[in-house]
Amino acid sequence: MPAGRFAPSPTGRLHAGSLLTATAAWLHARQRNHTFWLRIDDIDPLRDDPESKASFAPVLAAHGLCWDGDIQFQSRRTDLYRDALGRLQTFVCACSRKLIAERGGVHGQDCQSAPGTHATRLTPCWADCYTDGCRGDQAMTWLDAPVLWRRDNQPAYHLACAVDEIELGITSVIRGDDLLEATSIHRTLIQQLGTTPPEYAHLAVLRNPEGQKLSKQNMATPIDPAAWYANLCAALGHLIPGHTPEGATAEAILDNALHHFRLDPLK
Ligand SMILES: [Zn+2]
Repeated sequence: MPAGRFAPSPTGRLHAGSLLTATAAWLHARQRNHTFWLRIDDIDPLRDDPESKASFAPVLAAHGLCWDGDIQFQSRRTDLYRDALGRLQTFVCACSRKLIAERGGVHGQDCQSAPGTHATRLTPCWADCYTDGCRGDQAMTWLDAPVLWRRDNQPAYHLACAVDEIELGITSVIRGDDLLEATSIHRTLIQQLGTTPPEYAHLAVLRNPEGQKLSKQNMATPIDPAAWYANLCAALGHLIPGHTPEGATAEAILDNALHHFRLDPLK
């Protein structure tokens, strides 16, 4: 069954940019009768905010953005990531950032024997070209040994994300273009694990009046679920220029928007 997903990290509350991405991914999946997963990318226990994590489901539900099946939590899937790591072309590395910088980014034969804890990195390779649903043709990219398993013995985001796209049968990934560069890594990992990568479409990230990207890290205003109507109208106005939302409930407004949404290049 083809599937889409919305996969927030619980490093802060959802903001207008999160809602935009969630709405686009939801509309894209529902238009095609695809499964729609809610996946919580809580891979980093040090940055995990329990209150934010608990807020995602009620905030999305208040906006009519319902998902299929159980909510998926990356923190419960570590064994899958460890298994996948063993099937990838990797090397163990104890290089510090300082040492890597001194060597111009090149890892030497003595990588493993450097003092300190070790990370596991992807063996450097080329990522092939692909066409993004919003950003168009993307060139081949040299992947310079991204970390897949961190030196604090946690799976890295890139590995967890790639494994989950496979395990959940994700066929379309719609997300903010702050993750565009990561996509070559994700596609390569998925290919090395023997699966065809999903289609990707990266939406332009919303910015605040000062021109900064809206993000949980720079304290973007959290979404108020009580203001669901205004929030949904703003998201749909951005995604479907000229569209007038119609309906008395969030579900009715989204149903109507299904007839008008299109994922156009450079949106
Ligand atoms: Zn190294």
